[in-house]
Amino acid sequence: MKYFYPSLQALHKPSIDLSDGLPGYKHIETSDRVELILQGLLSAYEAEVVYVTDFDDAEVRTIHDDDYVDFLLAISKEIDQNAEYIPPVFRQDLTDSPLYFRGGMYCNEIGTPIGKESVKAGLNSAHTALSAATYMLQNNQSSFVLTRPPGHHAGRRRYGGYCFFNNAYLAAKKFADAGKKVAVIDIDYHIGDGSLEFACEQIPYFSLHSNIHKNYPYLDSDFKNENSYVTLNEFPSGISGEVYLQYVKKLIEQAVDDSLETIVLSLGFDTLETDYCQDEYIFVTPQNFQTIGTLFGALQQNIMILLEGGYDADNLKRCAAMFMDGFLSKKKL
Ligand SMILES: [Zn+2]
Repeated sequence: MKYFYPSLQALHKPSIDLSDGLPGYKHIETSDRVELILQGLLSAYEAEVVYVTDFDDAEVRTIHDDDYVDFLLAISKEIDQNAEYIPPVFRQDLTDSPLYFRGGMYCNEIGTPIGKESVKAGLNSAHTALSAATYMLQNNQSSFVLTRPPGHHAGRRRYGGYCFFNNAYLAAKKFADAGKKVAVIDIDYHIGDGSLEFACEQIPYFSLHSNIHKNYPYLDSDFKNENSYVTLNEFPSGISGEVYLQYVKKLIEQAVDDSLETIVLSLGFDTLETDYCQDEYIFVTPQNFQTIGTLFGALQQNIMILLEGGYDADNLKRCAAMFMDGFLSKKKL
């Protein structure tokens, strides 16, 4: 088992988070997050850390639309060194508008500012997942990937929710292309509305998440997804960690059978009871992450554990250590 770290992640340094409207507050998707999580992982098990430096845009175009990737690269060139870009208008189709306005058709909200080097960091995060997939295919092992910026809110032609490229589905596609039977399991606090766009028969999506209307991404009230390759589980607000674990067990039962070979696990530490991003609190403790690690570690499949959210800097290190301790108590290295 190895840990994979995006070397360029700190180039993305969003300053103000306007997710909740005005006034903005200090952005919570910071580079410290992955530093703390890495420290936690290493305290549980000193795996080799692979530092990934790639950031080219060719492979993300296999799942993201060219005009979307082109826009992100073009706007990056225009942004001043310490400035940030947030689209000024939001419309379905701004193809004929000047570059500065076009972002409004590729983004749903104002919580994900783009800095000069943000897209480069996003590409590097995607490559970190891809490198881990290559390693897993060659070595028949699991991995932990410290993807930052995260990815599960990024759609085919849409960024937001702190995400630019869908790291989980990029990695899963690599497994599927290699002939592996793979599924994406998502236990971030939020539904991966980006991942939903990529779910397909070949790579089904199984998610456990908070209420989709009362929490980000605040989906349409008539939202429905009845695809057979999408399985959505919603936990009620206010539940204890013990009850949450029952939901995780059910999710695993839904997603995993003997024919499955590889799991891409979108892991968010934002289910933690002290995380600031929850509109409806649940009461998952650091100890509960140990049990979650144990549940996944007990599976026979190789698992790419891939970071999504998690913002409580005071507890990330501990949660990561607990998760990995649980995972390795069951998983053979
Ligand atoms: Zn989240």
